[in-house]
Amino acid sequence: MRRKLVVGNWKMNGDRARNSTLLDQLLSAMPAGVDCAVCAPFPYLPQVGELLAGSGVALGAQDVSEFPDGAHTGDVSVAMLADWGVHFVIVGHSERRAFHGESDGVIARKAAAVLAKELVPIVCFGETLVERESGVTEQVLVRQLDALAANLSPDALQRIVLAYEPVWAIGTGRAATVEQVQAVLVFVRRWLARHLSAPERIRILYGGSVKPETAGGLFGLPDADGGLIGGASLVAESFLEICRAAARAAQGN
Ligand code: PEP
Repeated sequence: MRRKLVVGNWKMNGDRARNSTLLDQLLSAMPAGVDCAVCAPFPYLPQVGELLAGSGVALGAQDVSEFPDGAHTGDVSVAMLADWGVHFVIVGHSERRAFHGESDGVIARKAAAVLAKELVPIVCFGETLVERESGVTEQVLVRQLDALAANLSPDALQRIVLAYEPVWAIGTGRAATVEQVQAVLVFVRRWLARHLSAPERIRILYGGSVKPETAGGLFGLPDADGGLIGGASLVAESFLEICRAAARAAQGN
C-alpha cells in the first residue's frame, strides 16, 4: 500500500524569521496518516533541518548537481545535501527545465546521482500548454520518462518518486481537472509496468495550483499518491489543509 505524500516546494521564498514562523505553525498541527516534506532553498536547509528534527516531516531540496564535486561554481552536490539531513530532492522542475535549460538527460543523471547516495529524487515531468493543445502530451511524457529508464538501473528506478506537473498548471491558478490527471496517471502506470517488476510501489504526485479546495478530489484519484505544492505551501493553514485532505484520502482508499 502506497502512503500519501505531500511535499511543499518553497521555491525562492522565505527568510529565517518567516521560515521559523511557518514551521512553528505547521508542526503544531500536522495531521497523522500522511508523509510530508518541505523543500527549502539551499541556504536555509540547516535551519529548516534543525526545526524539523524529530517532527516526522522530511527535509527536501529543490535541485542538485549531477556531479559529485569539483569545478562547478554555484552548484551543490548530493553529498552536501546528505550532510544536512536532506531526504528528498526535486529534480526536473519545469522552472529548471525552462530557465536553466535542463534537458531530459541532465535530469535523469541528477536523479541517478541522488539515488546513488540513497536519497530520494522527486522527478518532475509534464507537458506545456502548446504540447497539450497540439495533442502530443503522451509523446512528451514518454520522452521524459524514457530518459529515466535509459539512465537508471531497474533497481534505482524502483526508488524514485514521480511528480506529474503540467507546466500550464504551475503557479497559474489553473489546476488540471481530475479527469486530465487520472488519464495521465493511468498512462504513466502503464509505462511503469513495462519497466519495473514492482510498478505498484511507485508514488506519483500531482503538482500544479493545488489548493485546499481542490486537493481532496485530486488525492482521491486511485492512481494519485499526493501532491507537490508550490504557492499554497507558503501559507501554513493552506498547506495543513492540503495535508489533511491527503490524510482523509488515504483513509478513504
Ligand atoms: C510547483 O512549484 O511545483 C507547483 C506545483 O507550484 P504551484 O502549486 O504554485 O502551482
